[in-house]
Amino acid sequence: MTWPMVAQLPKSTPVVIPIAALEQHGHHMPVFTDSMLLGEVVRRTVAALDDRVLFTPLMWLGNSHHHMDFPGTMSASPRVYLDLLIDLAENMLTHGFQRILLLNGHGGNIVPAQQATFELRQKYRHRSDLLLLSSTYWTLGGEPWTKAPSLQQRRVGHACEYETSMMLRIAPHLVRNHTGAQEMPFGNSFEPAHRAWITKDRTSVGHIGHPSVATAEKGEAIFQTFSQDVIQLIERMIRWDGTSWEG
Ligand SMILES: [Zn+2]
Repeated sequence: MTWPMVAQLPKSTPVVIPIAALEQHGHHMPVFTDSMLLGEVVRRTVAALDDRVLFTPLMWLGNSHHHMDFPGTMSASPRVYLDLLIDLAENMLTHGFQRILLLNGHGGNIVPAQQATFELRQKYRHRSDLLLLSSTYWTLGGEPWTKAPSLQQRRVGHACEYETSMMLRIAPHLVRNHTGAQEMPFGNSFEPAHRAWITKDRTSVGHIGHPSVATAEKGEAIFQTFSQDVIQLIERMIRWDGTSWEG
């Protein structure tokens, strides 16, 4: 788009900023996995929503310091990443937009994305017309196993049955011998406390979960489920009446 095209959009147009990562994904998947998978969710979402929503380019750099023991990972440190997200969202507030979604595709970005929108809301506390959201595509309530009953995992791990299936669906030539990858358990959760961890505390090979049972068919079911969740969330942003989030 040209800048006059952006300028002509209604200021109530939701702006979606996709945020992902470049980090290790085990022995069998490329470091660009999170950006590729979120890119596919975004592609399907754009196809459904068309010009009712403004999508920015996907931000490939994420907060992946917990993966830095694995070569190839590139990461913005947590505070740098927080400031980056605040700037990206605030750029669009400066241009007059009122409804912003940080659409996330990487676990390490969840807390920074929530903090970024939290801090912006405090800064713009005098405004009553702002809708500042962050969301991760696999946490919107979708249950892909209802479409693909052979799915064994009931939650997303890392380079796992879910992510490997999705990559097999969009770029099978980039998946290397996933059927030989052993299952890596999720491990002790330390609940109800939140344990600070780095990835090598939990896995020596880099993946967590069960990649060997991944298939492209499961990947298609996962993409359909999660893309539909994202479309429904953004349609609620379009319908937002300025007060209630219901309906
Ligand atoms: Zn991932």
